[in-house]
Amino acid sequence: MFIFSAMRHFAHELRELGYQVQYTKIDDQENTHSFTAELERAIKLYQPEKVVVTEPSEYRVLESFKDHEFNLPIEIRQDDRFLSTHDEFKEWANGRKQLRMEYFYREMRKKYNILIDNGKPTGGQWNYDHENRKPAKDGMSIPKTFSIEPDSITLEVMDLVSEKFSNHFGDTEPFHFAVTRKQSLLALNQFIEKRLINFGDYQDAMIEGEPWMYHSHISFYLNCGLLFPLECVKAVEDAYQKGQVPLNAAEGFIRQIIGWREYVCGIYWRRMRGYEFEEVFDASGKLPPLFWGGEAKMNCLHQCVKETKENAYAHHIQRLMILGNFALIAGLSPKEINEWYLIVYADAYHWVELPNVTGMILFGDGGLLASKPYASSGAYINKMSDYCKKCHYKVSHKNGLDACPFNYLYWDFLNRNQDKLKKNNRLGFVYKNLERMDEEKIETIKKDSRRFLKSLENGEEV
Ligand code: FAD
Ligand code: SF4
Repeated sequence: MFIFSAMRHFAHELRELGYQVQYTKIDDQENTHSFTAELERAIKLYQPEKVVVTEPSEYRVLESFKDHEFNLPIEIRQDDRFLSTHDEFKEWANGRKQLRMEYFYREMRKKYNILIDNGKPTGGQWNYDHENRKPAKDGMSIPKTFSIEPDSITLEVMDLVSEKFSNHFGDTEPFHFAVTRKQSLLALNQFIEKRLINFGDYQDAMIEGEPWMYHSHISFYLNCGLLFPLECVKAVEDAYQKGQVPLNAAEGFIRQIIGWREYVCGIYWRRMRGYEFEEVFDASGKLPPLFWGGEAKMNCLHQCVKETKENAYAHHIQRLMILGNFALIAGLSPKEINEWYLIVYADAYHWVELPNVTGMILFGDGGLLASKPYASSGAYINKMSDYCKKCHYKVSHKNGLDACPFNYLYWDFLNRNQDKLKKNNRLGFVYKNLERMDEEKIETIKKDSRRFLKSLENGEEV
């Protein structure tokens, strides 16, 4: 709904400005449902001298353009949704043993002169992540996300989607999104005025019933071109310089955009084609019904899936440390979990979904993107959220029917993958703890995990 509405608004705005626009709607009779065939159709109709396109952000689409014989010049221009070009990333990456995001990020800070004083990082440090791990507090009052009444274009799209895709996952209402450039700038400003101040401190915190927390909710707009990365970063730097927000909030946000976002895009193009087939752990578990909104006793998973279905959004820690952590330690199929993430989020595009899923949550590239797997037991979830309070399972119980499944699945994952992970120097401490466990304890962990995974495989409620 978001993409259709944003495209239709853009077409409308261009027409108002006097441009001639041909926009093919999904249900147009002549729609061939292929980018290249649609372009061929337009070429036949308008007979242009040449075609200018923005470089597609998806490998498959770019290849389809390159492989197709159009019989006229096709100029592919750089995609201005990103700051760094493929060549720039290649230049940075070539010859390096490790492609750590942190070093890439520092280069970007210097290049764009963001939070730099006399050639040094503002405040003396490049990264304030250690300050950005506060758990949620009781009684926090979190400002609502930006929202706007759907207009006639959005309402038309809502009807279309409800009718055409009624069996798809996801709710059509409430609809929160900005769908024009003007509205997207308002959404960015609303974040800077109301939530940025706490963005850093509570970046990793989760509260039941608070899907939006202090995050920016702008990935949708950045990824479809309604906002540009540099303007977001500059606006946040400006708020810091005016003394409106603390440094850990501004730096934390800026790192997400010119660090993580640009970096995962660079990794995507470096690893394609083939990244989608990379995996380390031979996982093949079927995606359980709870991922499609089925009942679940595990409250953390239930809440994150419910919010995903309602909003086509979950914030980073929900995607990483609840849904992703579970997919990793329960051994779910990389293919199925990649498909799921691509289907359910309004900001999902292959260039960003794939590195985050295959690289970050599934460790499928063997540590290129993440230096160790993001696996954790229930203790982390209990520390950073209030989900465990209302859960069927007991987070303090390590084994048995009422124990939190994250507890035994975590150790089972480490135990069954020792050959692949034991040499990882960031896991030395964890493997020392595993070594200290006696045989009986390991057997109990294995037994609980087998029982749980069997139930999962049978589609039972877990
Ligand atoms: P904020 O927390 O406010 O962060 C600000 C911005 O930083 C985001 O809007 C985004 O543009 C950028 N950003 C932050 N982290 C990342 C990251 N790891 N990769 C790329 N950009 C980042 N992001 C997507 O845009 N599309 C996806 O399909 C997507 N899939 C993900 C799947 C998994 C398994 C994980 C762990 C993360 C995924 N992310 C994805 C990254 C991140 O979770 C979202 O960008 C973020 O939650 C969007 O919400 P926000 O705008 O409120 O972000
Ligand atoms: Fe999730 Fe375990 Fe906490 Fe339940 S007890 S909410 S399953 S971490």
